[in-house]
Amino acid sequence: MPCFCEKNDRTELRVEADVAADPVWCHRCSCNLELEDLPLSKKLRTELMNWVLRYGEWIDWDHDDRLVPGGLVLETAHNKEGKRLTERMQQELGADFRVVFRSSVFGWLMYRKPVPAEAVYSLYGILPIYPPWLLSM
Ligand SMILES: [Zn+2]
Repeated sequence: MPCFCEKNDRTELRVEADVAADPVWCHRCSCNLELEDLPLSKKLRTELMNWVLRYGEWIDWDHDDRLVPGGLVLETAHNKEGKRLTERMQQELGADFRVVFRSSVFGWLMYRKPVPAEAVYSLYGILPIYPPWLLSM
């Protein structure tokens, strides 16, 4: 499946978990890519799929998308695992590719007060989007 980039040049990749998506994205155009299309070992592909299927274990979907008890710990562990898998993917793909990891920040954004945007950016590489109710806490 081609991405939206000109020439379909998929050498900058991002590992990021989301619901019902393969865990790899084109880092330039944010198109979701199919793991099958990448030259990865079967073992790593399986581990990546198992990892993405566990995305959201910390979210209580039935109750206004709140965190489940101990959710922050689950999310942090999932992020750690994701980072580890990203490093292995980089190793398998080699120097022709650049693979970055984007953490899930769901619990972090839900249960902590807003911090300066620069702090979030240095931690996660993205700018925070705070829900309005959090800002008035
Ligand atoms: Zn692209």
